[in-house]
Amino acid sequence: MSAFDNAMKQLKSAAQVMNLSSDMLERMQKPERIIDVEFSVKMDDGLVRIFHGYRVQYSNILGPYKGGLRFHPQVDLDEVKALSFWMTIKCAVVDLPLGGGKGGVTVNPKELSQVELEGLTRSFTRSIGDVIGPDKDVPAPDVNTTPQIMDWLVDEYSNIVGHPSPAVVTGKSLEHGGSEGRGAATGKGAYLVFEAFRSEHNLQPGATVAVQGFGNAGQEIARLFHENGYKVIAVSDSHGGIFNEGGLDLPALIRHKKETKSVLGFAGSHEISDSKLLALMCDILVPAFMENQITGENAESLNCKVVLEVANGPTSPEADEILARRRIKLFPDVLTNAGGVVVSCFEWMQNKQGEHWSEEQVFDRLKQTMDKASTSVIQTAKQHNIIYRQAAFIVALERLSKK
Ligand code: GLU
Repeated sequence: MSAFDNAMKQLKSAAQVMNLSSDMLERMQKPERIIDVEFSVKMDDGLVRIFHGYRVQYSNILGPYKGGLRFHPQVDLDEVKALSFWMTIKCAVVDLPLGGGKGGVTVNPKELSQVELEGLTRSFTRSIGDVIGPDKDVPAPDVNTTPQIMDWLVDEYSNIVGHPSPAVVTGKSLEHGGSEGRGAATGKGAYLVFEAFRSEHNLQPGATVAVQGFGNAGQEIARLFHENGYKVIAVSDSHGGIFNEGGLDLPALIRHKKETKSVLGFAGSHEISDSKLLALMCDILVPAFMENQITGENAESLNCKVVLEVANGPTSPEADEILARRRIKLFPDVLTNAGGVVVSCFEWMQNKQGEHWSEEQVFDRLKQTMDKASTSVIQTAKQHNIIYRQAAFIVALERLSKK
C-alpha cells in the first residue's frame, strides 16, 4: 500500500468538497523538490558503507520547508513524499509560518554503535547541507531520531557554513538551543486536541484507552490519559503488546520500557498481539506507531468509539470510509500530532530572536494554537457535514490557497 497514494486520495476527497481550484490541486499533487542522496559512513570495523537518504521539499507556500528526519529500515521515497505532504497540510492547519518537508535515511539505527550513528548523521548532513538552512528548510526529530542526533546535525551544519546556526534544526537538546517542552509536545498536543473534541463525543475520565506504539509520542499520550483519570488498558511496541483490564500503571510501565527496551514482561499484564490490540473493545484507540495500520482489511474489526491518530498516516482512505459508516469518529493526524511541529516552530523563533521561553509559556502558546485549530476543524466539519480529516484538509487548503 503506497502512503503517497493514500495521501493523494485524502487530498482529492477534501478538494472535491471545497471545490479547490484545479491549479492548486495540481500544485498539491507533487513535491517542489526531491533530494535523493547516497553517502558513505566509516563503520567500527573499518569498512565504509553506503547509505541512502532523502529530503523531500514539498511546499514552501507558507514558509521555509519544515519536517522531521526519520532513520528507519522502511524509509523510501514514497513514504518520505507522503510524510512531507502531510507536513504541508499540518503546518497549515495549525497556522504556522512554515511549509512542509521531510527526510529520512534507510537504516536500522538500533544496529549501529553511537560512533556509527554520529558518523551517519554528520555524513547525511553534509550531503543535504546546501538545501537546508534556517530560512530554507528546517529538519527535526521523527521516528528513531533524538535530540542528540539534532545536536550533531547543528554542529555539522555550523561547520559547513562557518558560524553557529542553531535555527537550522529543531528538537535539539536544551544545552544546544532546544526549547522547553519540545520532547513532550507531540503527546501533549494530541491530548489538547482530544480535550477540545471530547465534549462533542461525551468522553469522560474513566473511559478506556488502547495505544499502539510506545515511542516518544505514544508514551506521552498514554501517560497523560493515565494522569487525567482515563484507564489505559493496552499498549504495544515493536516487540508486541500487553493488556491489563484494570488499567496499566503508566509511570511504572515507562520505567520498565526504559530499563528493558520493551513493554513485554510488565508486572500484572498479559501479552496480546498487535492485531488484537487494534480490535480491542475500548473507548479510545490511539495508533501511535507507523503508517497504514488501520486499513480496509481490519477497519471492520475495530471496537472503539473514537480513533485519535498520533502517528502520521496510520489510517488508509478505505478505512476512513468504513469508520465513517460505522460512526467511529476519527481525530486526524494532521491536527492531533501537530503539537510537535508547533513547539518546533517556537524553538525556531526563540533561536532566531535569541530568546528562551519558560515551559509554562511554551505550553500556554501550544494550548492556544491547538485550541484554535481544533475549533476551526470542528466548525468546518459541522458546516459541510464531513469527517474531521476532510475538515482539517479544507482548513489547510484554504490557507494555502489564500497565499
Ligand atoms: N516529525 C514530527 C512530525 O511528524 C515533527 C516535525 C517538526 O517538528 O518539524 O510532525
